[in-house]
Amino acid sequence: MALFCRERGFEPRYIEFMPLDAQSLWGRGKVLTADEIIAIIEREIGPLIEVPDRDPRAPATEYEYADGSGRIGFIASVSKPFCMNCNRIRLTSDGKLRYCLFAIDETDVKHLLRGDATDDEIRAVIRQNVSEKWIGHEINSPKFVPPPRPMYSIGG
Ligand code: SF4
Repeated sequence: MALFCRERGFEPRYIEFMPLDAQSLWGRGKVLTADEIIAIIEREIGPLIEVPDRDPRAPATEYEYADGSGRIGFIASVSKPFCMNCNRIRLTSDGKLRYCLFAIDETDVKHLLRGDATDDEIRAVIRQNVSEKWIGHEINSPKFVPPPRPMYSIGG
């Protein structure tokens, strides 16, 4: 995949395997970390250099091939969590607001948007949901509880 993209001028993103699979097959030991992927690509293709001054809120860390022929990004969501910089919320196609990919609770905003709630009422509900954002996803701790929804029903 890396070779294919490099030869065609595409910028691929690699994201670590997260516990959001519908089959519940995830296990910490099955995660190929970003560092491991980088090592494989450097061995098979060539050296990579981290692009400086990255936006700390961007999930991907970008690298450039040392010979200047393309970029590549890595999302180390399991091995190097970046939750403290996360500015994302998600609205699912069935109208649920989620403050984190791994949220257990979600807020139903569809009935507000379809009903006669005022903008202020909707704003207050959104603020409440965002205020529940966690410090971190806890994937790497025994406290972690996988969310009931798989990734395909949340949105990436
Ligand atoms: S807070 Fe949730 S959505 Fe944000 S980076 Fe962490 S795991 Fe992902």
